[in-house]
Amino acid sequence: MIVSPQPVSAASASFDQSLGAALTKRSIRVLQINLGKRCNLACTHCHVEAGPQRTEELSTEVCDQLIDVIQRFPQLETVDLTGGAPEMNYGFRPLVAAAFAAQKSIIVRSNLTIFFVDGFEDLPEFFAAHRVRVVASLPCYLAENVDRQRGSGVFDRSIAALQRLNDLGYGHDPNLVIDLVYNPPIPSRDRFSLPPDQATLEQAYQQRLLADHGIVFNHLLTITNLPIGRTKLALQARQLEADYCQFLADNFNPATVAGLMCRDELSVDYRGYLYDCDFNQMESIPARSPDGKILTLADLLAANSLDLIQTVQTDRHCYGCTAGAGSSCGGALT
Ligand code: SF4
Ligand code: SF4
Repeated sequence: MIVSPQPVSAASASFDQSLGAALTKRSIRVLQINLGKRCNLACTHCHVEAGPQRTEELSTEVCDQLIDVIQRFPQLETVDLTGGAPEMNYGFRPLVAAAFAAQKSIIVRSNLTIFFVDGFEDLPEFFAAHRVRVVASLPCYLAENVDRQRGSGVFDRSIAALQRLNDLGYGHDPNLVIDLVYNPPIPSRDRFSLPPDQATLEQAYQQRLLADHGIVFNHLLTITNLPIGRTKLALQARQLEADYCQFLADNFNPATVAGLMCRDELSVDYRGYLYDCDFNQMESIPARSPDGKILTLADLLAANSLDLIQTVQTDRHCYGCTAGAGSSCGGALT
């Protein structure tokens, strides 16, 4: 879906006004852990602004608290590990092992190229042994487009990594799931775009990756570029931030609201602070209790409850999740 930018207009109505009410939290089912900002890549669209020079990562104390949370709350169905490259950050393997022992679904958001970095070559086998669902960014099935967004040689290494995962049973065995993520190019002066139809693009990816490289995968997830992180910096450099935010607001789709991931998820940073989602985490918008208190893992453990939040903290970037078919870490919402 390609749409020309709208002329700059009055500020968007606030997101909560578009909803008609504050966005309420439901019972928590998903714990998304951002282990830190270390990454072997430095992609232009990265909302985390991760890279090889970053050093922020989980401490042993926070890791122990996370393991306590994973073991203590049966309502928690899924442990979702992200970063940076989560695999490079302290605590990755102990958290996977704890979640596997507690019979949680485990997701790792992997850039795949980490399989070829010294010390991480055994990751595919580690993932398979713990039935980790791998969610991997591959913004195109053409090498040129991927390398432009993610760096030279990333496409070839991603293809080789997918082939290794296929050899281990990923994409074939129902317990070994590999999903790919598409996000559109960084918004540019002449056009803004939402992701194309997810099912149609998934078919195109499946056909091309199988024909060109013999690769199979389970699902393609389409994700909208939110005006945060490096995308926000790129928009600001092109003086397009206001236009792009208005474009997202103009494409508000109320049918996406019921499925917003923030409603049943807790996002945790490497210091143990809680957020309603990873995007809010990157924008430094903490989750709050009904009396306005900023929450940490220690608060969950002291209260012996995951459900301390009534209302999701929203801001204008939330329009990125509700535009068109909607967007989340699990792809389109409608
Ligand atoms: S988008 Fe992912 S792989 Fe790229 S720099 Fe950010 S965390 Fe690393
Ligand atoms: S950015 Fe998206 S997932 Fe996060 S709080 Fe806003 S609507 Fe919810």
